[in-house]
Amino acid sequence: MDTSRDEARRRDAADPLRAYRDHFYTQPGTIYLDGNSLGLLSHDAERTLLRVLEEWKTKGIEAWMNADPPWFTLTEELGALMAPLVGAEPDEVIVTASTTVNLHALVATFYRPTPERRKIIATSLDFPSDIYALQSQIRLHDGDPARDLVIVQSRDGRLIEEAEIIAAMAPDVAMVILPAVYYRSGQLLDLARLTAAAHERGILIGIDGCHSVGLVPHAFDRWGVDFAFWCTYKYLNSGPGGTAGLYVNRRHFGVAPGMAGWWGSDKTTQFDMSHTFTDAGNAGSWQIGTPPLLSTAPLHGSLLMFAEVGIENIRAASLARTDYLIALIEAMGLTDAPYHYGIGTPRDHSRRGGHVAVEHAEGTRIAKALKTKGVIPDFRPPNIVRLAPIALYTSYDECWQAAQHLKAIIDERSYEAFPIGRDLVA
Ligand SMILES: *Cc1c(COP(=O)(O)O)cnc(C)c1O
Repeated sequence: MDTSRDEARRRDAADPLRAYRDHFYTQPGTIYLDGNSLGLLSHDAERTLLRVLEEWKTKGIEAWMNADPPWFTLTEELGALMAPLVGAEPDEVIVTASTTVNLHALVATFYRPTPERRKIIATSLDFPSDIYALQSQIRLHDGDPARDLVIVQSRDGRLIEEAEIIAAMAPDVAMVILPAVYYRSGQLLDLARLTAAAHERGILIGIDGCHSVGLVPHAFDRWGVDFAFWCTYKYLNSGPGGTAGLYVNRRHFGVAPGMAGWWGSDKTTQFDMSHTFTDAGNAGSWQIGTPPLLSTAPLHGSLLMFAEVGIENIRAASLARTDYLIALIEAMGLTDAPYHYGIGTPRDHSRRGGHVAVEHAEGTRIAKALKTKGVIPDFRPPNIVRLAPIALYTSYDECWQAAQHLKAIIDERSYEAFPIGRDLVA
């Protein structure tokens, strides 16, 4: 492999998405590799946020109906715009609340434990919020999380084999909740296979798409996934705490939402103010209250960009970047002594998400040393420095520079200047 900087620059010059970098606010002297935690602001997202602010300024309450597009139906409109990213029909996706709230709303709807079937499957590598939500939902249903939450264990702390999840799908399991991509290793699960296996056994399946929506194409309808939820502030660049996404397969339309609110009403009768709930009859039913418009508006501009680029092109550009970064780290000898970096992310494209999990025993201090060099990674315990080259705005040259810094930090032992332990927000 050609490890020269010229080669990185050649790749940038040939990159089909290179024009999109200028859509984003990048900072000179900063190499931002944390777009899998908080995506950068684009001019497109800023424009739609400013549009809504202006509408508030000039129209006040009238903007619910008279804004362009009207605020009253914006979350439905954005759901429709996001549907192609997850392989759904427009009315199966809604923009609402947050990931964790949507997980609660969906499990509160679809988890109907019986004495014979009351277990929920999750895995040892899951994001903690998902586990807390499932534990509390089990308690709300008079269950015991120690008994009813089945945690499939990872053998190596990085990956989970689909076959092991399927092996846990016993007759007493009601539901399985899985991420599409694991937040630490970046492993992508085979959701088609897992969905088919769950359904053969009469088990419902719900997917957490936080680390996959806006990165990997999904086919929720074709696979038959029952429901899904995801955040929009990572790969979809909607801004900190941006309003989340929710999918419900249309075969479940009309099921009463477990955490109902007036925003789940049929739009035509919502303002009748009746005490009888009339369900929207689509994914919109799982909305609870008034959407936070200012946290929703940036998503509009962002999704228009995704529609223009196409998720297949984003996926190809992401894989090309992670391929390059992994190959560079290896070709520079950084996985050998004295560097001892490990790559925890699967090499196989069909199993890889959007970041490279760089493992090192000194991971926390290396992450801090990278920041002082202007490289923004993040750190996840116990030893993972996550580097996410984002298709729309990370250049190959930035990947190249990041790899040089990984090398220099060990050569110079500069990480030793930092205290051991992670920051409060890592
Ligand atoms: C980021 C992330 C969340 C965050 O949930 P919030 O409700 O937005 O705080 C949940 N699950 C996974 C897998 C995540 O990656």
